[in-house]
Amino acid sequence: MARFIFITGGVVSSLGKGLAGAALASLLQARGYKVRLRKLDPYINVDPGTMNPYEHGECYVTDDGAETDLDLGHYERFTGVPSKQTDNVTTGRIYQTVIRKERRGDYLGGTVQVIPHITNAIKEFATSNLEDEDFVLVEIGGTVGDIEGLPFLEAIRQLGYELKNDAIFIHLTLVPYIAAAGELKTKPTQHSVKELRSIGIQPDILLCRSEQPIPAGQRRKIGLFCNVPEEAVIQALDVRSIYEVPLSYHEEGFDEQVLKAFGIEDAPEPDLSKWQEIVERVLQPEGEVNIAVVGKYIELQDAYKSLSESLIHGGIANKVKVNIKWFESETFEDDEVNPAHELENVHAILVPGGFGERGAEGKIKAAQYARENMIPYFGICYGMQMAVIEGCRNLAGMPNAGTSEFGCYDPNVVGLMTEWTRGNETEIRSEDGDLGGTMRLGAYPCDLVEDSQVREIYGTDHIDERHRHRFEVNIAYKDVLEKVGYKFSGLSPHGDLPEIVELIDHPWFIGVQFHPELKSKPFDPHPLFKSFIEAAVSKSRLV
Ligand code: GLN
Repeated sequence: MARFIFITGGVVSSLGKGLAGAALASLLQARGYKVRLRKLDPYINVDPGTMNPYEHGECYVTDDGAETDLDLGHYERFTGVPSKQTDNVTTGRIYQTVIRKERRGDYLGGTVQVIPHITNAIKEFATSNLEDEDFVLVEIGGTVGDIEGLPFLEAIRQLGYELKNDAIFIHLTLVPYIAAAGELKTKPTQHSVKELRSIGIQPDILLCRSEQPIPAGQRRKIGLFCNVPEEAVIQALDVRSIYEVPLSYHEEGFDEQVLKAFGIEDAPEPDLSKWQEIVERVLQPEGEVNIAVVGKYIELQDAYKSLSESLIHGGIANKVKVNIKWFESETFEDDEVNPAHELENVHAILVPGGFGERGAEGKIKAAQYARENMIPYFGICYGMQMAVIEGCRNLAGMPNAGTSEFGCYDPNVVGLMTEWTRGNETEIRSEDGDLGGTMRLGAYPCDLVEDSQVREIYGTDHIDERHRHRFEVNIAYKDVLEKVGYKFSGLSPHGDLPEIVELIDHPWFIGVQFHPELKSKPFDPHPLFKSFIEAAVSKSRLV
């Protein structure tokens, strides 16, 4: 039976609960334990798939096709354990399950209530679909005191009571520095723990985010008022790179306190060499490159979380620092704006995934600029579709080419996908169906064509990558585009869906229909990102 670690947050949001959980899991893993991370989100959307990135940041897609919270991306990047559909749940999904059961008559005769029906469904979710994990870390979204979080907190309180010594509670708080007083303040932490205890949860460990080291006296005070041993009040100071978090937590004794709270005395020592090497590469790079990301949600970098991490991973692989320069794609639509001027010190251009017409013409211009000026270009999903439209318009004699996502173009070289296959199954979508959960989602196989650049990069002829899109490049345009210098170098096993398009006479111009950024890890950088950054390094040596 697995041991459970419940992680709640207090005082303010955005303290990095997801990262804290991911880092703790990686430390337990470094000691040889098998871990799984889960997230319970109190909002009412059934999943974050229909939310705008401005609302929620990136939507992270799992192999089994779930659209989940971006924290699951941190979990995978830190542990390498692929997340599953059953690792993220929301209030919406919990209610959906309970209401379906009610309609079916499963509770016939009874009144269906938050307690016990909703809390039971939450408990069942948190504890089922496990294999032989030693530790399951369950993060509760939001902040203690939120009305919508209450059923989740009640559910984990009950689990703590039932699991006895096999469950612990970690509370993440903030210890702010008040400049006027010249002091760190412990009161917000005291209040947050008081709130937690009023609903019956006594934290075992407090993880205190702080900009300054917390003096022993303050830690003692927090421990005393919050009923937590002083050594279990862990300071979590800001670090230079997120990949330094596991090492810094270990130094503060976080994993040791977790084991102690479970009464585990014979835990193996952790092997942290992997993290030491990553941190060394991140903090002592041998050079640097500038990468332009031309997107639409650039004010909120959480919208491109996996992407920016993957670029950093590419940098780790090449021992260089990657400076990401964010560009609002609409800038390039202005005829007054000269892309050469804007992109002067840039060594490679990446156009990431996106939805809708706004900013699309700017992305098309960025692809054209990269193609004509031999600048490495990486088009991901929408970025591939835009590169194909650009090729059709400017090389293949179709000046009005477009995608049905913008409306009616002549011709629409990218169109709505109504049918696609996974294994022996055909998945079908009707054109006027629901928007939620009707995309091609999750891992699909792709065959790489002989003598292609991607085959060399991957070092194999068959890959699996994760998808999240409604439209696809129409295979009918393969021949015309191949005549003008493109190669359809990755295809779905039936050969009907173009998954990768590359340009032949160009140092690095690759568009992929899938999202490789969802599978990259600091200790296992994705081959495409590794190769893309390598191409940027070569470019930087030329200029
Ligand atoms: N909007 C495009 C589609 O649905 C691309 C999606 C994406 O980039 N993830 O096909």
